[in-house]
Formats: sequence, C-alpha cells, structure tokens
Amino acid sequence: MANDNSFQDVLGRLEDVNKYLNLPPAIYNRLRYPRRSLIVSLPVRMDNGEVKYFEGYRVHYNTARGPAKGGIRYHPKVTLNEVITLAALMTWKCALIDLPFGGAKGGVACDTTKMSRDEIKRMTRRYTHEIAMFIGPESDIPAPDMYTDEQIMAWIMDTYSTIKGYSVPGVVTGKPVCIGGSLGRKSATSQGLVTVLLEAIQHLGFSHGNLAASIIGFGNVGAIAADILSEKGVRIVGLADSKGAIYNPKGLDIKAVKKHKADTKSLAGFKDAEQVSIDDLVCLQCDVLIPAAVAGQINIRNAKGIKARIIAEGANDPTTLEADAILKDKGVFILPDILANAGGVVVSYFEWVQDIQRYFWNEDEIQKRLEGIMTKAFKHVLAIAQDKKVDMRTAAMILGVGRVAEASAVRGLYP
Ligand code: NAD
Repeated sequence: MANDNSFQDVLGRLEDVNKYLNLPPAIYNRLRYPRRSLIVSLPVRMDNGEVKYFEGYRVHYNTARGPAKGGIRYHPKVTLNEVITLAALMTWKCALIDLPFGGAKGGVACDTTKMSRDEIKRMTRRYTHEIAMFIGPESDIPAPDMYTDEQIMAWIMDTYSTIKGYSVPGVVTGKPVCIGGSLGRKSATSQGLVTVLLEAIQHLGFSHGNLAASIIGFGNVGAIAADILSEKGVRIVGLADSKGAIYNPKGLDIKAVKKHKADTKSLAGFKDAEQVSIDDLVCLQCDVLIPAAVAGQINIRNAKGIKARIIAEGANDPTTLEADAILKDKGVFILPDILANAGGVVVSYFEWVQDIQRYFWNEDEIQKRLEGIMTKAFKHVLAIAQDKKVDMRTAAMILGVGRVAEASAVRGLYP
C-alpha cells in the first residue's frame, strides 16, 4: 500500500516540475490541495447477523478540466492519505491524455478476501448510498481499481439509479457490457501499457522478441499484460501476486500459470518455476519490469539491485521518490504511471461518451482509438523529455500539471 509519505511524494514531484513550469504561486498552491474529501462510515450487516463498520473515502482532487474521474479501491490498508495521492495522480493523468476530466479516487478499508460476495454487495450498496451526493455522470464517475470489478460497478450503477428513479449508466465505467459497459474496457489498461512499452522499446533500439519481462501483480492489469506480451513474443520470466512470486529465466507458460492460480488461488507453488520472494523478484534478471499491484513496491530497499532496463508502471505510484532518483542515476527508462496505465481511463472515457450518447462503438473502433491516443501521448511526452532534457516522469508531469494549471488559471478564482 502507499507509504505514509505518498502524498509528500506527490508534493515533492509537483515542486520539481514547477522548476520547469514556473507557475504563479496562487495556481501552484491550488494544485497542492485536494478540492473535496469525503469520509463515510458504513454499517454493514454481515452474514452472521453482526453489524460491522467500514470506513470509506471519496476524494475530488481537482475538477478544473471537467468532472472528476477515478477508480474505487477495496483494500484493508486504504487510507485517506492514499486516496488523496491517487486522486492527484488521476488529475495529472487525465490532463496528460487530454481527456475532459478532473481527478478523483475512492476506497473502502476492507479485506474482500475474507468477505462473502453478499457482504461485499451490501457494503458496496451502502458506500454508494453514502457517496451518492458526490458522484454522477456530470460530477464524478467512479471505475474499478484494486479488488473491485465489473460486478461491483454494476451494483454501484444499480444503487445510484435506484436513488434517482431511472437508469444512469454514465455514473460508473468498467461495468458489464449488457448495462452500458464498453467493449475493450477490461483489457484497456494492459493494452495501453503494451502500446507505450513497444514504443519505448523501439525508441531505445531494442527488439521486443529478445526481451524478458517480470510482472508484479497478477490481476486485471498484470495478468492481461502477461497475455498480450507473451503473444507478442516477450518472455515472461517472473510473476508475483499477494501470496508470493515465481521465476523461470527460460520463460513461464502463462496458460499453465493461470490454471494453477485458478485451482489454488495463488501463484505460489507453481511447479515449473523457482519460488522467490516478491522483493527478490524485483531485483532478478529481466529487461522489463512491470509493477502492477500496490504502491511503493520499488523503493530505497530494492532500487539499487534492479536489473531491468525499462520499468513500465502498470500500478499507480509504485516507485517512491527516493527510488526514482536511484533509477535515474542507473539510466533505467521509466514509463511513469500517469502515462503507462492511462489506457484504462481512456476506454473509461469512451464508455462514458457512449453511455451519454446511447450509441455504442465496435471493439475494432475502440482498440484503434485507444492505440492512437496512447501512441500520441507517448510521443508528446518523449518530445518534451528530449526538448527539456528530463526523464519521462518529469516530462509527463510537465504536460499533465501544465494543462491543469492552464485550466485553473483561465477559469479564475471564485468568488
Ligand atoms: P486487481 O485487484 O485486479 O489485481 C491486483 C493484483 O495484485 C492481484 O494479483 C493481487 O494478488 C496482487 N497483489 C496485491 N498485493 C500485492 C503485493 N503486496 N505484492 C504483489 N502482488 C500483490 O487490481 P488491478 O486492477 O490489476 O490494479 C493493479 C494496479 O494497477 C493498481 O495499482 C491500480 O491502481 C492500477 N491500475 C489499474 C487500472 C485498472 O483499469 N484496473 C487502471 C490504472 C491503474
């Protein structure tokens, strides 16, 4: 989970990027504060009849460029600080991609692995009820994040629609296609990540057919990225989930790994691989490292030992500020989270547009538009990096933060 300093890191990165943007103090200071933070307590009847309380959050970090947009995370260690951090990253990410959205995030501190599906449903409905005044297609549109999925989005859409008295599909994205979800949303984050990764590989003069990758996290983002990359001939040598990590320098058979995970609920114990710790896996030989789980997994403890030449941040906020500096010195090419994992919010945007228009696109159209937007974003960030002689994260921040600042300035200060 995000370390307690995660928001300090957001502010540190903002300060760094302001050396290039030179924003007027009134605008710079506005970007340092979340606009609104809602804390809710959720009484939920558990299957044994007991009423248990969960704490939930929803944060709108900045809405200068449009309605707030961001996922909802269910995890035992979710904190308000983490949700604010992730909402800030969503703000820069939506602006960098040039979507007409601000940034938001939500979370509930809970351990869904110890809850029944009915308990998760009741908690989701209560959470939706408590944040209903905060969300809506014109104001704030949630989506899935860690340990939330399309079924949970369907319950949110249904609860919100029940409150309104009519169906409001545009209130969430990442919902099932049969109630207004978009084709291609499930794989969008991983597709987007692979698109920018292949651009980076080409830019650096490597050939992806000779590369080996390790992926930390084997959920929506990590498992689908493993599929797409292995289809493209990249050898997946390391994989990790919350229970452990596996490594095979000759390459893992992703289909067999998936079957093992489905049978045992864990990657640990997969027979055709060495069993290693997650921290060890980060430092084992690979060309591309893809963090696709929790925040802060690339940190001061392991950054020096990393052998990968490219890091593609599928996860949000996976690299601490200190680790970033070490990796920069080592010359590792980092595709920062706000660029690398933006494919999810791009197709979420498509879903929202389709819901509002009540007119749906085919998958081919969605994939083409996604690829076009991600390629353009990569090239724009790379051009800034080359022009200003900065790393890709700083360049991505220059673009994203710069656009938010411009919108804030032109809208002016109320009253
Ligand atoms: P998910 O819940 O589908 O999967 C999470 C995976 O991480 C699981 O395999 C879990 O076992 C593993 N995991 C949990 N704790 C771990 C730990 N300490 N070490 C190693 N593995 C661990 O979540 P997801 O949707 O794939 O999201 C993963 C990351 O990608 C998050 O940081 C999320 O914010 C980011 N992200 C997701 C999307 C999206 O569209 N789902 C979009 C942008 C960014």
